[in-house]
Parts: sequence; C-alpha cells; structure tokens
Amino acid sequence: MYRALNFNAGPAALPEEVLKEAEKNLLNFSNTGMGIMELSHRSKEYQAVHDQAKTLLRKLLAIPDDYEVLFIQGGASLQFSMIPMNLLGKDQEAHYILSGSWSEKALKEADKIGKTVISASSKDQKYRLIPEYNQNDIPDSAAYLHITSNNTIYGTQWKTFPSNEKTPLAADMSSDILSRPLEVEQFDLIYAGAQKNLGPSGVTVVIIRKELLQRSSEKLPAMLNYNTFANNNSLYNTPPTLAIYLLSLVLEWADKKGGLQQIEKANEKKAKMLYDAIDESEGFYIGHAHKDSRSCMNVTFNLQNEDLSREFLHKAQEAGFVGLGGHRSIGGCRASIYNAVPEHHVEKLAAFMKAFKNNN
Ligand code: PMP
Repeated sequence: MYRALNFNAGPAALPEEVLKEAEKNLLNFSNTGMGIMELSHRSKEYQAVHDQAKTLLRKLLAIPDDYEVLFIQGGASLQFSMIPMNLLGKDQEAHYILSGSWSEKALKEADKIGKTVISASSKDQKYRLIPEYNQNDIPDSAAYLHITSNNTIYGTQWKTFPSNEKTPLAADMSSDILSRPLEVEQFDLIYAGAQKNLGPSGVTVVIIRKELLQRSSEKLPAMLNYNTFANNNSLYNTPPTLAIYLLSLVLEWADKKGGLQQIEKANEKKAKMLYDAIDESEGFYIGHAHKDSRSCMNVTFNLQNEDLSREFLHKAQEAGFVGLGGHRSIGGCRASIYNAVPEHHVEKLAAFMKAFKNNN
C-alpha cells in the first residue's frame, strides 16, 4: 500500500500498524458488532480502552501515583487558558520563559487571567536557542513557571529543565512528549495535544501533581476546572472516544518498541541524519537552531535565498515528500520527524537533500 513520505508538523504520521489495527475496529470492535466510535462511552468495552490508555501512559512515562492523568478536549491551546485559570491566584505572578510562538501564545492567554512576568526570552535571537534564564529571578512565591519543551516552529528543544522546589513547573510538551525518557517529578503539570507523538487531534493529555488541584476555584465553569476531570476519570461528559482509542494503540506501539529509551535512540539517529546533511553541506543548507538547542523532532533550515528554498520545496514535493514547508509565520523548510516517521523515510530525505545540493 502507498504511504506518503509524511513530514507534517501535526497532525502527523501515525504508525502504520496502528492504522491497520484501527481500520479493523472501525467496523467491529472486539466482536461487539459495533465500531469503536459507535460504543457508548459508559460501556465496559470503551471503559477498558480508556483505562488502558491511562495505564500505558503511566507505565511509559513512569508517572508517580501523586499525579493525575487527564484527557481534555480543546487542544493544547485551551491549556494556555486553563493553566492560569486554575493555578494563578489573585495576588500571584505567573512566570513565562519565551522560546517561540507557542510560548508567546500561552503568555498572551495568561495575561487575560492575571499577572504575568517574562523571566527569559530568546525572541531577540529569532528563537534560535533555548533562552538562558536566571533561577534567582523566579521568586518562590510565583504561581508557576511555564516553559515549552520543544518549539515546533523554530526547531529548538530544552535539554535540561529549570528546577526550583518551591515554584511549580508547567510544560507544554505537545511536540516532544514520549520522544525521550522524562523525569515527571521535575514537573508539576505537563500537557500535550495528541496530534504529534501521541495519536490524532481531539484529545489533550494533562499530567498534574494532585496537590495543585487544590488551587482551582469552585467558581470555575465545570469544563474548565481540572477537578472535574480528575474526580470523574475524565468521563464527566463524553470524551473524544476515537482519539483516546487511537492514543491507546499508539501507546501500545511505543511500549512494544521497548519504551522511551529505545524510542529516544531511534529519534537521535533520525535527527542526526538530517543535521549531518545540513552540517556537511558547506553552507548550502543553513540550520535555524543553534547546535546545542537543536530539536530531535522538528529540523528547521533555510537555503541561501528564497528562490532556492522554493525550488527545493517544489522538487521535494515532486519526489513525494509531504509537509516540508516551514510554518507559515517563518517560512523556510522544516522536517518533522516524530516517533512514527520511519527511519527509511528520513534516510530518503537526507539522500534527497544531498542530491539536490549536488545538482544546484
Ligand atoms: N504548543 C505547541 C508546542 C504546538 O506545537 C502546538 C500546535 N502545533 C500547540 C501548542 C497548539 O496545539 P493545539 O492546536 O492542539 O491547540
């Protein structure tokens, strides 16, 4: 069966095995005579899927018992609002480290809810690197510190994380969750829209330290209060059942791959192929990110001028590559190489980059 060389930034490539398994169950799930989307969210069959997704996420990320795992709709973008709505007290400040457009958007929403402070930013450096920050600038009384662990648009990624025992750390991991082992204890809230490494769009995973749940005001609308999800196993209302089913299949697939250590190795190998193609091109390809901030998920680069970039993208499209255009806000080229992008697709892209250079 024809499978595109899919380098989309999200929604993005899913494992072929997952799609095949889902295909079977779209029509008849577990001999119920009903497709997975036709099951009641209160049925025992769906309940098992829901629980399996949570259990596997807990296993793969080694999530400790004092954290809740929530499934919420509204995308990562709704979390930009829910986090300050639930966690930012009236007399407190929320601190944000700006490392790209998504952290700017998160800050913009928090600004509407309460007081915010920009603790560090690499905007002046065109977001080519993860900003340096001074731990001492973040007061112990801050409501939380927010970071974006992987910057999908600029192609940068945090390698080590800030730590201050007194200030809760909230991280948008939409574009790199499940790509490498993680010490969940370093964070107090982790969130990720599923449509990159976790599954299809439609569900957002929120991992929150239980202690933080005490902060939410009872006056919040039910669907914007983390406690509604925590107290009802994310089944207060109808959850996105199909998206959660696909999430459970992707997690099973990741588990069979040997877990996050193995997945990280595979991701590093794929990223190296593309970064080597850039570094060995003698300036033909110009990487956007500084070397020590490079992302293993989104490889961003330019060619020497816009005409050549356009020609590259045109020829790449003719050769069957999909999704290599940079985000509409910055242009250039971007290859998103999430967990499910097969190694041989990345090999083909690296070879294409070398051949294009030699012909131009
Ligand atoms: N944060 C990051 C890091 C992202 O990459 C994206 C989407 N590309 C978002 C947030 C927004 O996600 P959503 O579309 O699910 O709201």
